[in-house]
Amino acid sequence: MKIDIVTIFPEYFTPLSLSLLGKAQGDGLLEISTHNLRERAHGVHKSVDDTPYGGGAGMVMMAEPIAQAIDPLVNADPELVMIIPTPSGARFTQERAVELSTAEHLLFLCGRYEGIDARVPEYYREVAQIRVEELSLGDYVLAGGEVASLAMIEAITRLIPGVLGNPDSLVEESHVLRDVSGDESAGETLVEYPNYTKPPQWRGLDVPEVLTSGNHGAIARWRLEQARARARKLT
Ligand code: SAM
Repeated sequence: MKIDIVTIFPEYFTPLSLSLLGKAQGDGLLEISTHNLRERAHGVHKSVDDTPYGGGAGMVMMAEPIAQAIDPLVNADPELVMIIPTPSGARFTQERAVELSTAEHLLFLCGRYEGIDARVPEYYREVAQIRVEELSLGDYVLAGGEVASLAMIEAITRLIPGVLGNPDSLVEESHVLRDVSGDESAGETLVEYPNYTKPPQWRGLDVPEVLTSGNHGAIARWRLEQARARARKLT
C-alpha cells in the first residue's frame, strides 16, 4: 500500500518508522511519504491559513496551497482514496479500517486551526471525481489531523497481509470478534476477553482456573462469556 500524508508538521509521522510499520516499509509492503504543506505556501510567512468568511474565532486552511500539494498526487493516481480527518466526519471504525486496508493508495490531508476550507473536499469529490472520506476518530476535538491520521494509518495498515507476524492475532480481537453462539446475541460485535500470561499467581491474583485446564471447549465458552460481559458494559 502507498500512503501520502499532507501536513504542516511532517515530524509528527516519524513514529511510523518504528516497530511493525517500520518493518512493513522495510519489507516493501508499505510506502509512506510525507509532504510539507508549507513548501506549497507563498509569501514571506509561508502562510497556509487565513481568517474565516463570516467572521469568528481562529483561522481556516486555504484551499490553494492544499491543492498545490495534492494535485500532483491525484493526477498521478486518480484511483487514490483521500482521507480528511475531521471531528465532523463519519466515525472511523474497525469495519472502515478493514475496508480501507484493501485500498492500494491512501492520501491523508491533515487539518489544523479551525479546519480546511470546505471547498477542498467538495472540489476533489465533485469536480476531480476522487473518492474523499471525511472521518472522525471520536467525539472530541484534537489540535490537528496528524494524531488522527497516525491512529487511522496504524489501524488500517496492521490489517495488510504480512504486516503482523501472526495473522491469527487479527481474528480474535475487539470489534472483530462476533458472537457465533446461535442464541439471541449471535452476530453482535464483541470486545476481546481478558488475557493472562505467566506467572500463574501475581501479587495474590490467580489466573482463572479454566485457562490452565487444557479443556479447549470450556476455554472457548469462558472467553465468549467474558467477551459478552465486557461488550455489555460498554453499552
Ligand atoms: N473547528 C473544528 C470543529 O469544530 O469541527 C475543529 C478543528 S480541529 C481544532 C483542527 C483539526 O484537527 C481538524 O481539521 C482535523 O484535521 C483534526 N481533528 C480534530 N479532532 C478530530 C477528530 N475527532 N477526528 C479526526 N480529526 C480531528
